[in-house]
Amino acid sequence: MHRMYDNSDITIFWDSEKCRKAKQCVTGSPEVFNIEKRPWIDPSAAPSAKIWKTVEKCPTGALTVAYDHGIRIEFEEDKCRSAAYDGSVEVGQCTFRKAQDGWAIEHTVVSPEYGGKGIAKRLVYKVVEAAERQETAVIPVCSYAVKLLG
Ligand code: SF4
Repeated sequence: MHRMYDNSDITIFWDSEKCRKAKQCVTGSPEVFNIEKRPWIDPSAAPSAKIWKTVEKCPTGALTVAYDHGIRIEFEEDKCRSAAYDGSVEVGQCTFRKAQDGWAIEHTVVSPEYGGKGIAKRLVYKVVEAAERQETAVIPVCSYAVKLLG
């Protein structure tokens, strides 16, 4: 399972397949990471800097984090994509094709001037999250999705 949790400043990524449930996150920021709650991560419950430090201590890489840089990510199923916007300007997208055996992620691109901000990862996670919520398989095809999802 792949999930993203946003506040107005950062996005926390969680990959359940890498999580060993060792709970360093729960110990580090119990107000944010609470396995008794749904959703179990509340990024509004502590300052972003504290959350960042806790995420960095995750021993498996199940948790990662990126600053949002004011970029909004939308899921647009009618266009088979997620898209990134800086205000009203589109700055990236992740497109997929609905195949018989799942959603094939075929292309992920971010405008060069917006590179290095974690936008591509947010775009892919947005598609994967939507697919998983619909109990649909994801087939990574583009090289970035292959690298990210393994
Ligand atoms: S610290 Fe990382 S591996 Fe441990 S429970 Fe939290 S998310 Fe999972």
